[in-house]
Amino acid sequence: MNINVQHIPKNTPNNRRPGIAMEPEYLTIHSTANSGSTAQNERDWLTNPSNTRTASWHLVVDDKEVIEAIPLDEIAWHAGDGKNGTGNKKSISIEICESGNREKTIENAVKLSAQILKDKGWKIDRLKRHYDWSGKHCPRILEENNWTEWDEFKIMVLKELEVTPVSPWAKEAMDWATSPEINITDGTGPKEPITLERMITILYRYHKLNEKK
Ligand SMILES: [Zn+2]
Repeated sequence: MNINVQHIPKNTPNNRRPGIAMEPEYLTIHSTANSGSTAQNERDWLTNPSNTRTASWHLVVDDKEVIEAIPLDEIAWHAGDGKNGTGNKKSISIEICESGNREKTIENAVKLSAQILKDKGWKIDRLKRHYDWSGKHCPRILEENNWTEWDEFKIMVLKELEVTPVSPWAKEAMDWATSPEINITDGTGPKEPITLERMITILYRYHKLNEKK
């Protein structure tokens, strides 16, 4: 994804860009809760004089583009977990727009998320929701059916991350194994030899799964 950089100034009112250095460890997903607003509208709101909130974010994505408002190595106020919270202090934030073509917007958000995980060398466990930090019902567009959309979002990101495609004959089994209900493997390295630790973990998770039944 091409990133359109439009950083807000460091003196933006209400401390929206505190300029505090960050070594990110997570990626946090939000949705804007505004069905009429595009990525550019969201970016413009951050520097609109009538905006009185101390709230900001790093990246915003809609069906057309990605805009970066705060450098990814500085903190932004987005996670609702306080000034020392891990969400605010250690995570890069993506706002997903609720306007425009939803399918295309999600596709762009998946690509952007995968790109950041890949860049940072992070696995899927680094991908978080605003909800994970502070219990806020956000990203609400991925919560409509009790977060099944969030599970699907993560699966799409995993697929995007997969460098080695799964062989057609193994696809059905891999989809099953990586589904949120089963989750005995994250599906990475589908053609790698099976190490003892991988095999044991898969067996253990499968055993646990049967225990639950
Ligand atoms: Zn949020």
